[in-house]
Amino acid sequence: MQKSEARADYYLSIAQHLVRPGYDWSAKYKVTIDLDEGNEQDRSEQLPRPRRSDKAINDVMMDMEIAESEDKCEFMDFSSVPFDVKKRSRSCQICNYEMRKPKWKGVVMCMNHGVRLCTAIMPPRSDSLPELYQLNGEKVIDYSWTCPTKTSCWNKFHDYYLPKGLFSKKEINLAENTMKFGNFIYSSDLYQKKYKALGIEVNQQDEGKKKKCMGRIDFTTHTRG
Ligand SMILES: [Zn+2]
Ligand SMILES: [Zn+2]
Repeated sequence: MQKSEARADYYLSIAQHLVRPGYDWSAKYKVTIDLDEGNEQDRSEQLPRPRRSDKAINDVMMDMEIAESEDKCEFMDFSSVPFDVKKRSRSCQICNYEMRKPKWKGVVMCMNHGVRLCTAIMPPRSDSLPELYQLNGEKVIDYSWTCPTKTSCWNKFHDYYLPKGLFSKKEINLAENTMKFGNFIYSSDLYQKKYKALGIEVNQQDEGKKKKCMGRIDFTTHTRG
């Protein structure tokens, strides 16, 4: 594939995600303003039209802004960052979570959700390499902690891992002159399932109290060769 085609595909995949076909934006934003104001001919009967007060319109606009700022993804390439970002801070965080080989190619940031994600489409983790092993040496058979869909890490993050509470949110602010990304929530259900699937014992505290947070998992312990 030509370099330019690869780039075009890459932007297309992002655009397709951002548009999210089938997503009911009007329901999400509860847009009720009549946008048909200019079309006088349709008002032949000249019925008195109830006018929204400026305040009502303001309220709707405010709702839209809030909804947008919560949900809108803003992607950015590392090459557009005006300062150096260390290599280890540029790898895909979902590949890392799913214990794939570290990936730097095609990784972009979502500035709103504070993550770095690759955009190539990949099969589910259960059908991917390297094979994973539990602490006792047996193969991992439980992949309930991973997204079962064949798609990109960008999509997995937004459609699966984020709604399931795997990540803390950290909006990236370039003005801080440093990159602070969101991180895994080790006490989340998914991460707890991951420890279990890898045969790592999670110390439970007393009933009713929060599960003890475990830390980072060593990649080489659970892969061969
Ligand atoms: Zn996002
Ligand atoms: Zn990835």
